[in-house]
Amino acid sequence: MQVSHAGDILGSAHLAVEYLDSLIPPIPMQASVRSAWNHMLENYSRFQVATCGSVLLHELVYFAVCLPFFFSQFLPFMRKYKIQQDKPETWEKQWKCLKMLLLSHFFVQIPLICGAYHFTELFGIPYDWESMPRWPYLVVQCYSCAVMDDTWFYFTHRLLHHKRIYRHIHKVHHEFTAPFGMQAEYAHPLETVILGAGFLIGPMVFRSHLALLWIWLLFRLLETVDIHSGYDPPVNPMHIIPFYAGTQFHDFHHMNFEGNYSSCFTWWDKLFGTNVQYKDFQQRAAQQKTQ
Ligand SMILES: [Zn+2]
Ligand SMILES: [Zn+2]
Repeated sequence: MQVSHAGDILGSAHLAVEYLDSLIPPIPMQASVRSAWNHMLENYSRFQVATCGSVLLHELVYFAVCLPFFFSQFLPFMRKYKIQQDKPETWEKQWKCLKMLLLSHFFVQIPLICGAYHFTELFGIPYDWESMPRWPYLVVQCYSCAVMDDTWFYFTHRLLHHKRIYRHIHKVHHEFTAPFGMQAEYAHPLETVILGAGFLIGPMVFRSHLALLWIWLLFRLLETVDIHSGYDPPVNPMHIIPFYAGTQFHDFHHMNFEGNYSSCFTWWDKLFGTNVQYKDFQQRAAQQKTQ
């Protein structure tokens, strides 16, 4: 009797989920996106799709997002949004950063991203359109990936600031005290591996779909370039993300070296009190404004 009752509840819950699922509107141009996705899978092997797709996505998005912030230094109306007004970008710093970045992308980032195919095979991550979760599920999974990655980032980043470790690895990323977008991935190869490992936690937990891996990669790149941009304009689409820390938060970490160890959110810093210096800084800045 009890088994049948439990079965009825599960059946009703399943029907309710199915009903709610039917109410979800399709993504814009769903038919075209579906046909393009299937075309890609029919014409390229899974290895080519995962490897070339992930490398292309990473390179194109990274530099495309860096560009508007690079041009911001030449736009007079953007000057008032520069966070560290006393430390403008210089050609010398940017050229040095670009050279190191290209080396790092060719010899560290791209070889690591080439492991995308083996990662999807190892965790049984599907590629086909039929297995792709509906967009609200992808959004929730992507946000959860960000929460898990932020947790990993907070603790490993804090560890990299330990006085015995800092100068060997993380010092490279802190070379520029006033960040600029291109600097987001300017780091020691070991740091790229250690902090980058957090990126894989969410996809390993969900084992959802190749689309999640790509959407999450897109999100993570937008976020890391944004928080290193050095600019805080009043309109920023990244701020629609609930509890997003924002550019000022990580910019302060580069300026101060201590505190604000999180990347995307502020929860861990609040919980462990590592945002105290930032709060003082904000209070002093607010007082100066009112005087
Ligand atoms: Zn740091
Ligand atoms: Zn940074």
